[in-house]
Amino acid sequence: MFASLSDRINAAVSSLRGRGRLSDADIAASISEIRRALLDADVALPVVRDFTATVRERAEAAELSKALNPAQQIVKIVHEELTRILGGQARELRFAKRPPTVFLLAGLQGAGKTTLAGKLGRWLTEQGHTPLLVAADLQRPNAVQQLQIVGQGAGVAVWAPEPGNGVGNPVEVARSGVAHAKEQFYDVVVVDTAGRLGVDAEMMQQAADIRDATQPDEILFVIDAMIGQDAVTTANAFAEGVGFTGVVLSKLDGDARGGAALSVASVTGVPVMFASTGEKVGDFERFHADRMASRILD
Ligand code: GDP
Repeated sequence: MFASLSDRINAAVSSLRGRGRLSDADIAASISEIRRALLDADVALPVVRDFTATVRERAEAAELSKALNPAQQIVKIVHEELTRILGGQARELRFAKRPPTVFLLAGLQGAGKTTLAGKLGRWLTEQGHTPLLVAADLQRPNAVQQLQIVGQGAGVAVWAPEPGNGVGNPVEVARSGVAHAKEQFYDVVVVDTAGRLGVDAEMMQQAADIRDATQPDEILFVIDAMIGQDAVTTANAFAEGVGFTGVVLSKLDGDARGGAALSVASVTGVPVMFASTGEKVGDFERFHADRMASRILD
Protein backbone atom coordinates (compact mmCIF):
# COMPACT_ATOMS: atom_id res chain seq x y z
CA MET A 1 0.00 0.00 0.00
CA PHE A 2 1.17 3.50 -0.84
CA ALA A 3 4.29 2.07 -2.48
CA SER A 4 3.88 3.84 -5.78
CA LEU A 5 2.55 7.04 -4.19
CA SER A 6 5.39 7.05 -1.75
CA ASP A 7 8.01 6.48 -4.49
CA ARG A 8 6.63 9.27 -6.62
CA ILE A 9 6.31 11.84 -3.85
CA ASN A 10 9.82 11.04 -2.70
CA ALA A 11 11.12 11.31 -6.25
CA ALA A 12 9.40 14.68 -6.68
CA VAL A 13 10.98 15.98 -3.49
CA SER A 14 14.38 14.40 -4.16
CA SER A 15 14.61 16.27 -7.42
CA LEU A 16 14.86 19.42 -5.30
CA ARG A 17 17.68 18.08 -3.17
CA GLY A 18 21.29 19.04 -3.51
CA ARG A 19 20.61 21.78 -6.02
CA GLY A 20 21.26 24.75 -3.83
CA ARG A 21 18.87 27.61 -4.55
CA LEU A 22 15.70 26.76 -6.43
CA SER A 23 13.51 28.74 -8.75
CA ASP A 24 9.78 29.12 -8.22
CA ALA A 25 9.36 27.02 -11.35
CA ASP A 26 11.34 24.12 -9.80
CA ILE A 27 9.09 24.16 -6.78
CA ALA A 28 5.93 24.42 -8.87
CA ALA A 29 7.05 21.45 -10.98
CA SER A 30 7.67 19.39 -7.91
CA ILE A 31 4.23 20.22 -6.46
CA SER A 32 2.62 19.37 -9.80
CA GLU A 33 4.26 15.98 -9.75
CA ILE A 34 2.97 15.36 -6.20
CA ARG A 35 -0.49 16.35 -7.46
CA ARG A 36 -0.31 13.82 -10.31
CA ALA A 37 0.92 11.12 -7.94
CA LEU A 38 -2.07 11.71 -5.64
CA LEU A 39 -4.52 11.59 -8.55
CA ASP A 40 -2.96 8.38 -9.86
CA ALA A 41 -3.32 6.91 -6.37
CA ASP A 42 -7.09 7.51 -6.67
CA VAL A 43 -7.24 10.29 -4.10
CA ALA A 44 -10.49 12.22 -4.61
CA LEU A 45 -10.16 15.34 -6.73
CA PRO A 46 -11.40 17.88 -4.13
CA VAL A 47 -8.91 16.48 -1.63
CA VAL A 48 -6.07 16.72 -4.14
CA ARG A 49 -7.05 20.29 -5.03
CA ASP A 50 -7.20 21.36 -1.40
CA PHE A 51 -3.91 19.62 -0.60
CA THR A 52 -2.05 21.06 -3.56
CA ALA A 53 -3.36 24.58 -3.07
CA THR A 54 -2.35 24.58 0.58
CA VAL A 55 1.12 23.17 -0.09
CA ARG A 56 1.63 25.75 -2.83
CA GLU A 57 0.50 28.62 -0.59
CA ARG A 58 2.69 27.50 2.25
CA ALA A 59 5.68 27.03 -0.05
CA GLU A 60 5.21 30.57 -1.32
CA ALA A 61 4.78 31.99 2.16
CA ALA A 62 7.95 30.24 3.30
CA GLU A 63 9.78 31.76 0.31
CA LEU A 64 11.31 28.40 -0.46
CA SER A 65 13.15 29.71 -3.47
CA LYS A 66 15.26 31.79 -1.08
CA ALA A 67 15.69 29.04 1.50
CA LEU A 68 18.93 27.19 2.06
CA ASN A 69 17.28 23.80 2.50
CA PRO A 70 14.13 23.94 0.36
CA ALA A 71 13.74 20.17 -0.06
CA GLN A 72 13.68 19.65 3.68
CA GLN A 73 11.15 22.41 4.12
CA ILE A 74 8.87 21.07 1.45
CA VAL A 75 8.99 17.61 3.03
CA LYS A 76 7.90 19.19 6.30
CA ILE A 77 5.00 21.02 4.61
CA VAL A 78 3.91 17.90 2.69
CA HIS A 79 4.10 15.84 5.89
CA GLU A 80 1.96 18.31 7.82
CA GLU A 81 -0.59 18.58 5.03
CA LEU A 82 -0.79 14.79 4.55
CA THR A 83 -1.38 14.50 8.29
CA ARG A 84 -4.13 17.09 8.05
CA ILE A 85 -6.00 15.39 5.18
CA LEU A 86 -5.65 12.06 6.99
CA GLY A 87 -7.67 13.55 9.84
CA GLY A 88 -5.04 15.26 12.00
CA GLN A 89 -4.62 14.48 15.67
CA ALA A 90 -6.19 11.18 16.74
CA ARG A 91 -9.01 11.46 19.26
CA GLU A 92 -9.91 9.00 22.00
CA LEU A 93 -12.85 6.62 21.62
CA ARG A 94 -16.01 7.71 23.41
CA PHE A 95 -17.16 5.46 26.22
CA ALA A 96 -20.54 5.77 27.92
CA LYS A 97 -20.61 7.24 31.42
CA ARG A 98 -22.91 4.42 32.40
CA PRO A 99 -22.04 1.11 30.74
CA PRO A 100 -22.58 -0.56 28.44
CA THR A 101 -20.87 1.51 25.79
CA VAL A 102 -22.17 0.63 22.31
CA PHE A 103 -20.02 0.60 19.18
CA LEU A 104 -21.98 0.10 15.98
CA LEU A 105 -20.16 -1.18 12.88
CA ALA A 106 -21.48 -0.10 9.49
CA GLY A 107 -20.22 -0.56 5.95
CA LEU A 108 -20.65 -2.48 2.73
CA GLN A 109 -20.68 -6.26 2.61
CA GLY A 110 -17.12 -7.53 2.50
CA ALA A 111 -15.73 -4.31 3.99
CA GLY A 112 -14.35 -6.27 6.94
CA LYS A 113 -16.91 -5.57 9.69
CA THR A 114 -17.16 -9.08 11.11
CA THR A 115 -13.40 -9.48 11.10
CA LEU A 116 -13.12 -6.08 12.75
CA ALA A 117 -15.60 -7.06 15.48
CA GLY A 118 -13.19 -9.80 16.59
CA LYS A 119 -10.18 -7.49 16.43
CA LEU A 120 -11.96 -4.76 18.34
CA GLY A 121 -13.16 -7.33 20.89
CA ARG A 122 -9.64 -8.59 21.48
CA TRP A 123 -8.25 -5.04 21.65
CA LEU A 124 -10.93 -3.96 24.14
CA THR A 125 -10.18 -7.01 26.29
CA GLU A 126 -6.51 -6.04 26.31
CA GLN A 127 -7.58 -2.57 27.44
CA GLY A 128 -9.33 -4.08 30.45
CA HIS A 129 -12.88 -4.11 29.08
CA THR A 130 -15.35 -6.98 28.97
CA PRO A 131 -16.86 -6.75 25.50
CA LEU A 132 -19.81 -8.54 23.96
CA LEU A 133 -20.10 -8.97 20.19
CA VAL A 134 -23.63 -8.83 18.84
CA ALA A 135 -24.52 -10.59 15.58
CA ALA A 136 -27.05 -8.28 13.98
CA ASP A 137 -26.04 -9.16 10.42
CA LEU A 138 -28.85 -11.53 9.50
CA GLN A 139 -28.57 -10.82 5.79
CA ARG A 140 -25.50 -12.67 4.73
CA PRO A 141 -25.72 -16.45 5.05
CA ASN A 142 -23.35 -17.65 7.78
CA ALA A 143 -22.62 -14.14 9.08
CA VAL A 144 -23.83 -15.12 12.55
CA GLN A 145 -21.75 -18.28 12.53
CA GLN A 146 -18.77 -16.33 11.22
CA LEU A 147 -19.05 -13.89 14.12
CA GLN A 148 -19.26 -16.81 16.55
CA ILE A 149 -16.05 -18.25 15.11
CA VAL A 150 -14.39 -14.83 15.16
CA GLY A 151 -15.50 -14.32 18.79
CA GLN A 152 -14.13 -17.72 19.76
CA GLY A 153 -10.80 -16.95 18.12
CA ALA A 154 -10.63 -13.61 19.91
CA GLY A 155 -11.81 -15.04 23.24
CA VAL A 156 -14.81 -12.70 23.27
CA ALA A 157 -18.45 -13.55 24.03
CA VAL A 158 -21.00 -13.37 21.20
CA TRP A 159 -24.73 -12.65 21.36
CA ALA A 160 -26.44 -14.44 18.49
CA PRO A 161 -30.12 -14.57 17.57
CA GLU A 162 -31.99 -17.43 19.15
CA PRO A 163 -35.67 -18.05 19.76
CA GLY A 164 -36.74 -15.39 22.24
CA ASN A 165 -34.20 -12.74 21.39
CA GLY A 166 -35.27 -11.74 17.94
CA VAL A 167 -34.69 -14.40 15.30
CA GLY A 168 -34.96 -12.77 11.90
CA ASN A 169 -35.11 -9.26 13.33
CA PRO A 170 -31.72 -7.56 13.51
CA VAL A 171 -33.06 -4.58 15.47
CA GLU A 172 -34.43 -6.92 18.15
CA VAL A 173 -31.17 -8.89 18.26
CA ALA A 174 -29.23 -5.67 18.78
CA ARG A 175 -31.62 -4.39 21.42
CA SER A 176 -31.67 -7.68 23.32
CA GLY A 177 -27.86 -7.86 23.04
CA VAL A 178 -27.51 -4.49 24.78
CA ALA A 179 -30.02 -5.56 27.46
CA HIS A 180 -28.08 -8.79 27.99
CA ALA A 181 -24.82 -6.82 28.31
CA LYS A 182 -26.42 -4.65 30.98
CA GLU A 183 -27.61 -7.66 32.96
CA GLN A 184 -24.37 -9.59 32.64
CA PHE A 185 -22.00 -6.64 33.14
CA TYR A 186 -20.39 -6.58 29.73
CA ASP A 187 -19.19 -3.00 29.53
CA VAL A 188 -18.83 -2.61 25.76
CA VAL A 189 -21.17 -3.94 23.08
CA VAL A 190 -19.89 -4.21 19.51
CA VAL A 191 -22.80 -4.54 17.08
CA ASP A 192 -22.05 -6.12 13.70
CA THR A 193 -24.60 -5.04 11.08
CA ALA A 194 -25.49 -6.26 7.60
CA GLY A 195 -23.95 -4.72 4.51
CA ARG A 196 -24.80 -5.05 0.84
CA LEU A 197 -22.42 -5.18 -2.07
CA GLY A 198 -23.56 -1.73 -3.11
CA VAL A 199 -25.21 1.09 -1.24
CA ASP A 200 -28.91 0.32 -0.87
CA ALA A 201 -31.76 2.12 0.86
CA GLU A 202 -33.08 -0.88 2.75
CA MET A 203 -29.66 -1.65 4.21
CA MET A 204 -29.22 1.98 5.29
CA GLN A 205 -32.61 1.98 6.93
CA GLN A 206 -31.83 -1.20 8.82
CA ALA A 207 -28.55 0.20 10.11
CA ALA A 208 -30.33 3.44 11.06
CA ASP A 209 -33.02 1.44 12.92
CA ILE A 210 -30.33 -0.47 14.84
CA ARG A 211 -28.66 2.85 15.61
CA ASP A 212 -31.90 4.28 16.98
CA ALA A 213 -32.57 1.16 19.05
CA THR A 214 -29.08 0.98 20.58
CA GLN A 215 -28.00 4.65 20.82
CA PRO A 216 -24.35 3.94 20.03
CA ASP A 217 -21.51 5.96 21.56
CA GLU A 218 -19.49 5.43 18.40
CA ILE A 219 -20.60 4.47 14.90
CA LEU A 220 -17.60 3.10 13.09
CA PHE A 221 -17.77 3.13 9.32
CA VAL A 222 -15.61 0.31 7.97
CA ILE A 223 -14.23 0.82 4.49
CA ASP A 224 -12.15 -1.44 2.33
CA ALA A 225 -9.10 0.56 1.26
CA MET A 226 -9.08 -1.39 -1.99
CA ILE A 227 -12.29 0.17 -3.35
CA GLY A 228 -10.43 3.19 -4.69
CA GLN A 229 -12.49 5.94 -6.29
CA ASP A 230 -15.79 4.53 -4.96
CA ALA A 231 -14.68 5.25 -1.41
CA VAL A 232 -15.93 8.82 -1.36
CA THR A 233 -19.39 8.04 -2.79
CA THR A 234 -19.80 5.14 -0.38
CA ALA A 235 -18.63 7.17 2.60
CA ASN A 236 -20.96 10.04 1.72
CA ALA A 237 -23.90 7.64 1.36
CA PHE A 238 -23.23 6.17 4.81
CA ALA A 239 -22.69 9.62 6.30
CA GLU A 240 -26.11 10.62 5.07
CA GLY A 241 -27.94 7.32 5.66
CA VAL A 242 -26.59 6.30 9.06
CA GLY A 243 -24.02 8.89 10.08
CA PHE A 244 -20.74 7.86 11.66
CA THR A 245 -18.29 9.16 14.21
CA GLY A 246 -15.17 7.27 13.20
CA VAL A 247 -13.69 5.57 10.15
CA VAL A 248 -11.93 2.21 10.10
CA LEU A 249 -9.74 1.52 7.08
CA SER A 250 -9.53 -2.17 6.36
CA LYS A 251 -7.24 -4.18 4.10
CA LEU A 252 -4.42 -1.67 4.41
CA ASP A 253 -2.14 -4.66 3.92
CA GLY A 254 -3.33 -5.01 0.32
CA ASP A 255 -1.84 -3.40 -2.75
CA ALA A 256 -4.43 -0.65 -3.01
CA ARG A 257 -3.11 2.63 -4.28
CA GLY A 258 -4.12 4.46 -1.15
CA GLY A 259 -6.73 6.87 -2.48
CA ALA A 260 -9.53 5.71 -0.19
CA ALA A 261 -7.32 6.01 2.84
CA LEU A 262 -6.30 9.51 1.88
CA SER A 263 -9.76 10.75 0.91
CA VAL A 264 -12.36 9.54 3.38
CA ALA A 265 -11.38 11.46 6.49
CA SER A 266 -10.88 14.65 4.51
CA VAL A 267 -14.14 14.44 2.58
CA THR A 268 -16.34 13.46 5.53
CA GLY A 269 -14.51 15.37 8.25
CA VAL A 270 -14.61 12.24 10.43
CA PRO A 271 -11.30 10.92 11.76
CA VAL A 272 -9.85 7.50 11.00
CA MET A 273 -9.78 5.63 14.30
CA PHE A 274 -8.34 2.23 13.37
CA ALA A 275 -6.48 0.47 10.60
CA SER A 276 -7.03 -3.19 9.78
CA THR A 277 -4.00 -4.78 8.21
CA GLY A 278 -4.78 -8.45 7.69
CA GLU A 279 -7.17 -11.31 8.33
CA LYS A 280 -5.82 -12.31 11.74
CA VAL A 281 -7.24 -10.98 15.00
CA GLY A 282 -4.01 -9.14 15.84
CA ASP A 283 -3.73 -7.41 12.45
CA PHE A 284 -5.17 -4.19 13.79
CA GLU A 285 -3.89 -0.90 15.12
CA ARG A 286 -4.98 2.53 16.25
CA PHE A 287 -4.64 4.87 13.33
CA HIS A 288 -2.24 7.79 13.62
CA ALA A 289 -2.37 10.26 10.76
CA ASP A 290 1.14 11.57 11.41
CA ARG A 291 2.63 8.07 11.40
CA MET A 292 0.82 7.25 8.18
CA ALA A 293 2.16 10.46 6.63
CA SER A 294 5.67 9.48 7.77
CA ARG A 295 5.21 6.06 6.20
CA ILE A 296 4.30 7.68 2.90
CA LEU A 297 7.29 10.00 3.06
CA ASP A 298 9.69 7.34 4.29
P1 GDP B 1 -18.10 -7.98 6.33
O1 GDP B 1 -18.99 -8.49 5.23
O2 GDP B 1 -18.01 -6.48 6.31
O3 GDP B 1 -18.44 -8.51 7.67
O4 GDP B 1 -16.62 -8.45 5.95
P2 GDP B 1 -15.74 -9.65 6.56
O5 GDP B 1 -15.26 -9.31 7.91
O6 GDP B 1 -16.45 -10.93 6.38
O7 GDP B 1 -14.48 -9.57 5.58
C1 GDP B 1 -14.55 -9.87 4.20
C2 GDP B 1 -13.27 -10.58 3.77
O8 GDP B 1 -12.17 -9.69 3.91
C3 GDP B 1 -12.93 -11.79 4.62
O9 GDP B 1 -12.41 -12.79 3.77
C4 GDP B 1 -11.87 -11.28 5.58
O10 GDP B 1 -11.00 -12.31 5.99
C5 GDP B 1 -11.16 -10.26 4.74
N1 GDP B 1 -10.58 -9.17 5.54
C6 GDP B 1 -11.16 -8.41 6.50
N2 GDP B 1 -10.30 -7.47 6.96
C7 GDP B 1 -9.13 -7.64 6.28
C8 GDP B 1 -7.86 -6.96 6.29
O11 GDP B 1 -7.60 -5.99 7.01
N3 GDP B 1 -6.92 -7.44 5.43
C9 GDP B 1 -7.16 -8.49 4.58
N4 GDP B 1 -6.18 -8.87 3.76
N5 GDP B 1 -8.33 -9.13 4.54
C10 GDP B 1 -9.32 -8.72 5.37
